[in-house]
Amino acid sequence: MTIEEEVIKIQKKLNKISAEGSTQDGALDLLKALQELPVNLDILTKTRIGMTVNTLRKSSSDDEVISLSKSLIKSWKKFLQTGNSKDSSSNSSSKSKDSKDSDESRESEKEKEKEKDRERERKQSVSFPPSNTTDSVRLKSRELLANALRAGKTAEDLEGLASPEELADELEDAIFNEFRNTDSKYKNRIRSRIANLKDPKNPSLKNNFLNGAIPPTKLAVMTAEEMASDEMKCLRNRFVKESIDDAQLATVQGTKTDLLKCGKCKQRDCSYNQVQTRSADEPMTTFVLCNNCGNRWKFC
Ligand SMILES: [Zn+2]
Repeated sequence: MTIEEEVIKIQKKLNKISAEGSTQDGALDLLKALQELPVNLDILTKTRIGMTVNTLRKSSSDDEVISLSKSLIKSWKKFLQTGNSKDSSSNSSSKSKDSKDSDESRESEKEKEKEKDRERERKQSVSFPPSNTTDSVRLKSRELLANALRAGKTAEDLEGLASPEELADELEDAIFNEFRNTDSKYKNRIRSRIANLKDPKNPSLKNNFLNGAIPPTKLAVMTAEEMASDEMKCLRNRFVKESIDDAQLATVQGTKTDLLKCGKCKQRDCSYNQVQTRSADEPMTTFVLCNNCGNRWKFC
């Protein structure tokens, strides 16, 4: 068995223990076994075991479990701080000062690019309250869009999110504002949004829209290709990357992001934690907290 496989095996047991909550039998032994393994950055990134241990720490009331979890997380965090190098064993002290400097400036260039991307997104996401309408075609479109958003979602799924009606109104309004009439172009646009939001092969589109990662003004103009899964996967990858980049392996407050929008106070000031709830190859559940109003929700 490889180290990665061993870590995953322990991870599964720890997940189970965290999910059960009160009984923490065996947790300490599992953590000790984990401590013995030569975990490196590659394994941390692939397995996200840091998240698992942090979840356990939060769910535990056992002092020993809590303190061992903390020290494990602390020792793993060092990998993240020593840089992005895939090979955690290569020590930065072997590098000359010059190469280190250029690494840093490349890093800050990347940071600037990222900031520019965000700025663009913030601008795209500026939206105004949708206008009221009495037009029967427009009202019907809003109703159909809201139904598409609601489809397959339980009340629990939608808790904490902006209401489907509200989002449907904003989306319809953005589409109407482009055409200024309800002719065939308008209708086609509405129809293609509904079809894509209902597409069972592409649940991420709906989730990202409900969570504010895709603003109504953006969904209004997206092409069929853009709505298809690939871009959605990119968003997910970005979450994963962000949480590693920020050296936020497992902090209580989670990773800050302005990609998500709070359904209650409409602010983009959220933090999220991703948790592998089932097996390693299934998508992670993302728990989101609004730093502004304290609203909490989750999506997967
Ligand atoms: Zn809020």
